[in-house]
Amino acid sequence: MTIKYKSIKEIKSMISQKEISYKEIVTEVYKLIEENKDLNAFITLNEEESIKKAEEFDNNSSNLPLAGIPIAQKDLFCSKNLRTTCGSNILNNFIPPYSATVIENLENAGCISIGKTNMDEFAMGSSNETSFFGNVQNPWGKNLVPGGSSGGSASAVSAGIVPAATGTDTGGSIRQPASLCGITGLKPTYGRVSRWGMIAFASSLDQAGPMARTAEDCALILNEMCSHDEKDTTSLEDEIPNFEENLNNSLKGKKIGIVKDLDLSSLNNDVVEIYHNSLKEFESLGAELVDISLPNLSLSVPTYYVVAPAECSSNLSRFDGVKFGMRSEDVKDLEELYVKTRSEGFGDEVKRRILIGSYVLSAGYYDAYYKKAQQVRRLIKNDFDNAFQNIDVIMTPTTRGPAFEMGSKGDDPIQMYLEDLFTISANLAGLPAISLPNGNIQNKPIGLQIIGNFLDESTILNFAHMYQNETNWHMYTPEGIK
Ligand code: GLN
Repeated sequence: MTIKYKSIKEIKSMISQKEISYKEIVTEVYKLIEENKDLNAFITLNEEESIKKAEEFDNNSSNLPLAGIPIAQKDLFCSKNLRTTCGSNILNNFIPPYSATVIENLENAGCISIGKTNMDEFAMGSSNETSFFGNVQNPWGKNLVPGGSSGGSASAVSAGIVPAATGTDTGGSIRQPASLCGITGLKPTYGRVSRWGMIAFASSLDQAGPMARTAEDCALILNEMCSHDEKDTTSLEDEIPNFEENLNNSLKGKKIGIVKDLDLSSLNNDVVEIYHNSLKEFESLGAELVDISLPNLSLSVPTYYVVAPAECSSNLSRFDGVKFGMRSEDVKDLEELYVKTRSEGFGDEVKRRILIGSYVLSAGYYDAYYKKAQQVRRLIKNDFDNAFQNIDVIMTPTTRGPAFEMGSKGDDPIQMYLEDLFTISANLAGLPAISLPNGNIQNKPIGLQIIGNFLDESTILNFAHMYQNETNWHMYTPEGIK
C-alpha cells in the first residue's frame, strides 16, 4: 500500500480499513522526500517528532478529523522548536518559541507536520528563484519553475509526496504555483484564517490557505485551519461553515461572471482555448455565463506593487540583527550592525521591495503613490461589490501560461510581476479564490481561477468540486517522479 498521489480522503479510508499504519504513512513520506531530493521542496524536516506522533496514533486510536494526515508546512509559519527561515538568510538560524495558529489548529486536528517547505524569500516572488535555499524544481519538468512563492509546497503535493500542504497568498502565491504544478489551491477571504505566527510580508493582503490534489481535500483542511483568533486583530468573528457540506450542490442556474474588461489577447492561445473549454463544462453542469465589468482591474498590478512593498518595508524593519536570526560579525557600532546584517541577510528582490516601499511612504511621495494606491484599491473593491450583486462566482485563467524555464524571467522584474496579473485583484479586494487544474499545454499543467464573494469559500469549493467530478485534470501526475 502506498500513499503516493493519494488524496486525504483516500488516506483516511486506508487508515480506517487498517490497510496502512500511521507509522507506515509517515515513513513512506520521508522515503519519498529522500528519493525526490532533487526537487529541493523542503528546507527543514521534522522526522523524529513526526514518527513519534505516528507511533502515538498507532498506539491509541484517535477520532481527530485529520488524525495522522501528513502535511507540509510552508516555511513562513512559525513552528515551535523547529527552524523557520521564510526562505531567507537573515532567519537562517531562527527557531521560534511558539507555533503559528495555522500550525496549532492543524496539529490539534491530528495533522502531522512533516517539515517546512522551500519558498521565495519572505514570499516575494513567483518562481521560487529568490529563495536563499536554492531553486525548487517543478515535478513536471527538470528546468521548470514551480511558481511561487509557495513553490516548495506546490512541488511536494504535485510529486505525490504529501497529500496536502499549507501556503500563503499575498498576490497569488497559493494559486499561481498550484496552476503551474497541476494541483488545487485556495486563498480564503482575508481574515478567515489567523495570521498570528505567520511572518508578515504585506499584512493587509497576506492570507494562508490549503494546497492539495482536490477541492474536496482543500475543504477538509480549511475546516481545521480557520478559527477566530484574538491574537490577530484582523481575524474575523463570522461563523465558520462546514466547507464540506455544499460540495455537491447542483450548479443549475448559478451565474458565472465573465470579465469583459479582461484582455486575453496577450495570452498563450492554448490558455484561452482551455479556459473556454472549462466554461463550456460549467454550462453543461447548468451554470450560466454573465458578462460583467470590472473597469479598474487593469490597475491591480501597479496598485499591488505600491501597497505590498510599502507594507513590507515596514514589516521587515524588525530584522536588524538584534532580535531575530543572523547577526553580522566585526562591526564597530550599532548602525554598522544594522547595515551589515541587513545587507548580508536579505537577497536582491527583498532589497528592491524595501527600497520601493520606503520611497512610496516617504513624506514627499506618500500622497502621490501610497495614498493614491489605497484609493484605487477601494475602487477595485467597489467594482467587485457591484459585480457580485448579480453573480455567484467570477472565472478567469489563473496564469498567463504554464510553467516557464528557470532563469527565463530573472532579469526582468516586470515580467515576473505580471505572473500574478489575474490573481492580485482578489487579494486587493480581500476575496476568496481557488485555482484548479483545467488542462495541459505540451505536458505542462495549467489552472482555472474561480473568485468568490466575501466569505463565500463554500461556493467556489462547490464549483471546483463539481468540475472535478466531471473531469480528471486534477488526477494527472508528472512523469519521472520516483
Ligand atoms: N508574486 C507576488 C509577489 O512577488 C505575490 C507573492 C505572494 O503572494 N506572496 O509579491
